[in-house]
Amino acid sequence: MNARILIVEDEPAIRELLAVNLKHAGYAVVQAATAEEARERVAATPPDLVVLDWMLPGQSGIDFAKQLRADPRTSALPIVMLTARAQEGDKLQGFDVGADDYVTKPFSPRELLARLRALLRRSVPEASEDPLEVAGLRLEPATFRVFADGVALELSPTEFRLLHFFMKNPDRVLSRARLIDNVWGDNVYIEERTVDVHIRRLRLALSPGGHDRLVETVRGGGYRFLPR
Ligand code: CA
Repeated sequence: MNARILIVEDEPAIRELLAVNLKHAGYAVVQAATAEEARERVAATPPDLVVLDWMLPGQSGIDFAKQLRADPRTSALPIVMLTARAQEGDKLQGFDVGADDYVTKPFSPRELLARLRALLRRSVPEASEDPLEVAGLRLEPATFRVFADGVALELSPTEFRLLHFFMKNPDRVLSRARLIDNVWGDNVYIEERTVDVHIRRLRLALSPGGHDRLVETVRGGGYRFLPR
């Protein structure tokens, strides 16, 4: 079955350009011009991924992303933010509300497609993989769930993959470049600072039970996951 992609964009020309390219690439496309419309589409048939414009009339893309993350039915839905703003501060805000990737307008449809493919590939649970248990953390690849001492944690898809990779590679210094290759994919351009943003979010998610201490910063090296 083809993945279903919801495009939320108020500018008809950009929305149409996206829709044509995504349909051509074989995706099922659903369109919305506002967050309100998008909410109805999501409720009717949940998409596999959302391409979300930041600047929308009415509710902003950022607020809508927050809502999607807060709802258990859509908390793991991959979100790609579209924006004309390139400032670093805005970018960080986008990641803080739970976007998995970020594309700045004007973008090339080819680049956007490469990123969507990478995100969709990663959001498919690897059912064959066994659960991992390290230092009170339990990660279930098949169900996409993580428990800290038995308590379920809320992780976005990117933080989930990050933690998964850490748990499979305990006690090893992992450079940002290595993390990007394994967590984001090697055909996607991700800045190294983006890794730090997701590490911060992962630590925050792990902090209620004190498991944030397991993710250690190695000066000049990257990060290390401590198995105890
Ligand atoms: Ca807009």
